[in-house]
Amino acid sequence: KLKDKELRVLMLGLDNSGKTTIVKSLLGQDVKQVSPTMGFNIETVDYHDYIINIWDVGGQSSLRPFWFNYFEKTDSLIWVIDSLSLERLQENFIEFKKILIEDRLIGSNFLILLNKIDLIEDKAKIQQLITKIINLLQLEEIKNHNWKVLPVSAFTGENLHNGIDWIVDEYK
Ligand code: GDP
Repeated sequence: KLKDKELRVLMLGLDNSGKTTIVKSLLGQDVKQVSPTMGFNIETVDYHDYIINIWDVGGQSSLRPFWFNYFEKTDSLIWVIDSLSLERLQENFIEFKKILIEDRLIGSNFLILLNKIDLIEDKAKIQQLITKIINLLQLEEIKNHNWKVLPVSAFTGENLHNGIDWIVDEYK
């Protein structure tokens, strides 16, 4: 068997958006057992012919200056948003903008995950939320990156594998 292809994925987003829980869910671990990420974790997910190294970097404002140390050689960036904390959208936009202008991320793909959709009962709201995020983050204006927005739940696992499929397809 040929050596598996290795992908480097950087997972960022505001604190409490669910980054660590998403990684746990992908690893098939107990999603109810997470503590806030202090510093960073690297987890490896085996996915078909791929080895996906996911760098989960803590999102508290005190840790954000360190995000910039992790950009080298990133194939895909996953930006995680808490669908329920819309009062933080402005903060989200400000942090996302800083990442968009980062030269070291040119050529990487951006997967934006709207997490915690298990808490949204009205499914029509999810579509509205996607549109809102596309507008807020001004995604249509992005030229250097392919991007995709997916509503997900780390708790139920809904759509997470579609996200990883997208990352892998983009890499091919
Ligand atoms: P991080 O700071 O971005 O790594 O966020 P965590 O993974 O620590 O999650 C923050 C909080 O959100 C925790 O209380 C999680 O249990 C909760 N959470 C994460 N993902 C989901 C989800 O898909 N659904 C729900 N309902 N809660 C979630």
